[in-house]
Amino acid sequence: MENSTPKGHPKGLYLLFTTEMWERFSYYGMRALFTLFLINALMFDKETASGIYGSYTSLVYLTPIIGGYFADNIWGNRKSIFVGGVMMAIGQLFMFFSASLYSNHSVALILMIVGLTFLIFGNGFFKPNISTLVGQLYAETDKRKDAAYTIFYMGINLGAFIAPLICGYLGERYDAAGNILPGAFKWGFLCACIGMIISVITFEMRKNKVLVTPEGEPIGKIPNKQRLSAEEMGEAPVGKKSNSNVYVGVLVGMVVLVLLRFFVFMAEDETMIDTVNNYISAAIFAISISIPFIIITDKSLNKIEKQRIWVIYIVAFFVIFFWAAFEQAGASLTFFAAEQTNRDILGFSMPASWFNSFNAVFIVILAPLISILWTKLAKKNMEPASPYKQAFGLLFLALGYVFIAIGVDGVEPGVKVSIIWLTGLYFIHTVGELFLSPIGLSMVNKLAPVRFASLLMGVWFLSTAAANNFAGFLSSFYPDPVLTGTEVRALEKEFTTDTHKVYLLVDEVKKATPADTVKVVDDKGKPVEVKFSDIKFDRLFAEVKDKNDEKTINANAKIIQEKKIEFAKKAVNKEKSFIGIKITDLKSFFWLFVYLAGGSAIILFLLSKFLVKMMNGVK
Ligand code: GLU
Repeated sequence: MENSTPKGHPKGLYLLFTTEMWERFSYYGMRALFTLFLINALMFDKETASGIYGSYTSLVYLTPIIGGYFADNIWGNRKSIFVGGVMMAIGQLFMFFSASLYSNHSVALILMIVGLTFLIFGNGFFKPNISTLVGQLYAETDKRKDAAYTIFYMGINLGAFIAPLICGYLGERYDAAGNILPGAFKWGFLCACIGMIISVITFEMRKNKVLVTPEGEPIGKIPNKQRLSAEEMGEAPVGKKSNSNVYVGVLVGMVVLVLLRFFVFMAEDETMIDTVNNYISAAIFAISISIPFIIITDKSLNKIEKQRIWVIYIVAFFVIFFWAAFEQAGASLTFFAAEQTNRDILGFSMPASWFNSFNAVFIVILAPLISILWTKLAKKNMEPASPYKQAFGLLFLALGYVFIAIGVDGVEPGVKVSIIWLTGLYFIHTVGELFLSPIGLSMVNKLAPVRFASLLMGVWFLSTAAANNFAGFLSSFYPDPVLTGTEVRALEKEFTTDTHKVYLLVDEVKKATPADTVKVVDDKGKPVEVKFSDIKFDRLFAEVKDKNDEKTINANAKIIQEKKIEFAKKAVNKEKSFIGIKITDLKSFFWLFVYLAGGSAIILFLLSKFLVKMMNGVK
């Protein structure tokens, strides 16, 4: 046992680290610009743009089920990674073309859809297969696997961290008046394309030299199915042939057709986009249930293999709650950063989107420490089994939300709190992520029978697909000021009586809270989003512009701030509730995640003993 765990890590790990770093650079670089591009170049409204974004980010985690199947049965990991990488480079190139021709809306839209399709399928071939290869560099009993995946995860986040800085710098440009320049996005997408090309070239140049088992056998060359280990051969029930090929093949075909149909839909009729998004959510949930069922009923699986696969499924189920709460980062936590966090540091006002980089930075700092922790504990034979580590991960997630809930206790909507709260939350969440995510990849690798190695990695990513969808739903419980039509009209009447005040109030409120959009209910009870300034005062600007002094500005700013708080208070009193949990304010909103993640952590802790048994000797 000890002999199978030598010091250091194989060279192949660093190749996979670099390849994945550049791929994630490409993925996150494009992702950082994507919604801005949709809104400012293709002129979608925020709601539709969020829908397209949500569908894209969940579909990229749905297709690994296809890429995993191909690697196990037809191509092997190396070829799948190559095909996926080339597809993603082509996808980014189409995004570049789309952004270059943004002023011709329909052409740009079609080019974007083609680009996204390449990106979605390309990721499906790339992501599960590179993740599978990491574990294959080690002997089955090697104790360094969790540490190896943690180092690999650092590569992921190094890419995720630098991408928005470089692609964002090139693609998000403003004119002197502060308006975004729609013509610049293309450079960001081109940069993402170059990152992907670097990833493919690096991989292709070094793969033959370093992608080998400890015995020097090449890995990822042939389909995993043909790589049955002697142990697996012995364990497989005699005469029972795998039936999964047929079923999974048919299902994969169906998924491809359905997705293609959706995209064609979207291109044919733009107004269908919201409907398409809803269908995609339904498809993700249906596939997340049906594919795992098909795999587990495969006749070639023996009892031990089935039990191990059940462990993957059970943990993957809990992981949905992890990512659904974690991925609030791109949604409700970004609203919180924009609206209720004081982001001024030494006179510099930090953009709310920068908070998205905190996680990646913390990963890069913490990953080596956690990797050392696992190696040290392993040496003392004290390393906890994977399900325990993941339960800890969920616990940290809950603790992050407890921390921020303390910070917002008694804070009214519209009032800003210290940057410490959100920073602390991201720090605690990152520790949780390192306990859960790389360990999950490693666990799947250890538990999956070799012939299903990549397909089950695809199943693992299905939980991310489902979670991203769920995250959007949960984010909608964010306590947002909602004013009724009558309330808005009352506000309007009151302010329009004094034109001087009106101008100043609106102008100041813009500075005080960047979120100057409110949700109102119109006469027919339909919710609509209206810019606070737009509803009533725009036409008055010119008349009153130069007539006020600073004192009046400040006095009136205070009044409108109070008004906003008053209305927001009223709004949140119109309670929303989820599974019986009432959400009345920010504190109760954050507690929702404490319950979800904390509850999952406790159940997973309790189940861990049985899960460890079902792992049949795998740690
Ligand atoms: N940040 C991780 C990545 O991009 C998330 C993957 C996951 O959800 O498992 O690879």
